[in-house]
Amino acid sequence: MSKKTQDIWSYAPAPESSKVVQIKEKYDLYIDGKFVKPSSGKYFKSFNPADEKEICSIAYGNEKDVDLAVKAARKAYNTVWSKLSSAERGKYIFRIARMMQERSRELAVAESIDSGKTIRESRDIDIPLACNHFFYYAGWADKLEEAFPGRKPKSLGVAGQIIPWNFPLLMAAWKIAPALATGNTVVIKPAETTSLTMMILAEIIHEAGLPAGVFNVVSGYGDTGAAIVNHPDVNKIAFTGSTAVGKIIQKALAGTDKKLTLELGGKSANIVFDDAPIDQAVEGIVNGIFFNQGHVCCAGSRLFVQENIAEKVIEKLKFRMASLIVGDPLDKNTDIGAINSKEQFETIQKYLKIGKDEGSEMYQSPCKLPKKGNYMAPTLFMNVAQSNIIAQEEIFGPVLTIQTFRTIDEVIQKANNSPFGLAAGVWSDKGSKVFNVTSQLRAGVVWANTYNKFDPAAPFGGYKESGFGREGGLHGLIPYLKFD
Ligand code: NAP
Ligand code: MG
Repeated sequence: MSKKTQDIWSYAPAPESSKVVQIKEKYDLYIDGKFVKPSSGKYFKSFNPADEKEICSIAYGNEKDVDLAVKAARKAYNTVWSKLSSAERGKYIFRIARMMQERSRELAVAESIDSGKTIRESRDIDIPLACNHFFYYAGWADKLEEAFPGRKPKSLGVAGQIIPWNFPLLMAAWKIAPALATGNTVVIKPAETTSLTMMILAEIIHEAGLPAGVFNVVSGYGDTGAAIVNHPDVNKIAFTGSTAVGKIIQKALAGTDKKLTLELGGKSANIVFDDAPIDQAVEGIVNGIFFNQGHVCCAGSRLFVQENIAEKVIEKLKFRMASLIVGDPLDKNTDIGAINSKEQFETIQKYLKIGKDEGSEMYQSPCKLPKKGNYMAPTLFMNVAQSNIIAQEEIFGPVLTIQTFRTIDEVIQKANNSPFGLAAGVWSDKGSKVFNVTSQLRAGVVWANTYNKFDPAAPFGGYKESGFGREGGLHGLIPYLKFD
């Protein structure tokens, strides 16, 4: 990039204050309406991936704590929550939504500090959407009969929920709000590297006066999650995370009557036809893969460009990539924050090496990177073959592969040639072409002339190894209900 271009894009720092949130030294489990110490007495440390500094300690819950939480949830289900009128249940959920909204600035800063995602994103996407999911499902609580006319919907009992680290509060909201609205009680585990906003949410829910035991948080590692999955008195498991762990959970639940939804990995195709508005498409490509450091299950990580415009699109994309600002997640100018953990950073580096070894051509933006912290430049791979590992496996970082195509049939075949099927994007000026292509893509969500757009009323979920079941919208109620 020329010196002149760099000058155009240099901004003065605009950091959000980290003082907005008072982070405690230690966070306990939340069981039966009380903040309690873990039975093992053990806590683990949570770090800020932007500067690798320790931010707090989080309780490490074990099987015994999970059992206490499930017992509390069962008791609350039997004695209070299932007895309450649905309109009263709705009021509690509305109250939680309003209180989250009141503390949204604090939640946004906490989310960025804990996860490394940019403040622009946590402020404008994660937290408002999380609040909106509570508002949306609060509205359904007393309308379940209307949602499923003649089918007599009934709650299940205790829902066990396991959350990944890429959208910590948002993924929790996707699960908690419909579970409570349908009359179930909850035992939830945040991801180990990003527990902070769940701990703040527990304080909010406590303050909202939700009856004791209706909502319980047992933080910890994978074994804590496994204890929830394997607890005999849990009626439903909702899991968002990797395909590998999803498979373990599905095996563990085989032969039980527990309901299961799995929201797993992805390798989504973003398809640009030669009649697309190219500048908008380039913005959509950037948003599709570099948003949230590429830690997005539905990231548009496989770009397919029609051959006759490939050169032009790649040139524009490289130019746009060079203007992206990588750095302090709390700075409002930052486009790409910190990779969530050292472990994930190393996984991504491993894939960069594989890509080069496979013979693909790598381009990285010449942007400046902070000296400390898990930062990396947005990366493109060109000359990628369909069978290359970097085009098949989920990298979960800001890494895009580019392939070209000539015909509609060819691109549909290539896009569907993946073990995953979570999302896709199609860019074209021609409506009939868009409908033709979108109807043939095996993906749960397909965006046309946009990417990564979410709404609480729109269902989300996958095909194939991306999982099953839907979250969001009216569909998102179904996994938490049984019908006569
Ligand atoms: P992960 O390693 O599968 O972990 C997800 C959650 O499961 C974490 O809370 C984890 O705890 C817990 N866990 C680990 N082992 C477990 C076990 N044996 N039994 C029960 N729970 C267990 O996934 P991640 O690395 O956090 O998240 C990234 C993955 O999630 C990506 O593959 C991404 O595509 C996927 N994802 C999918 C969606 C979607 O909607 N489809 C949304 C977001 C993310 P620890 O944190 O303590 O290990
Ligand atoms: Mg952290």
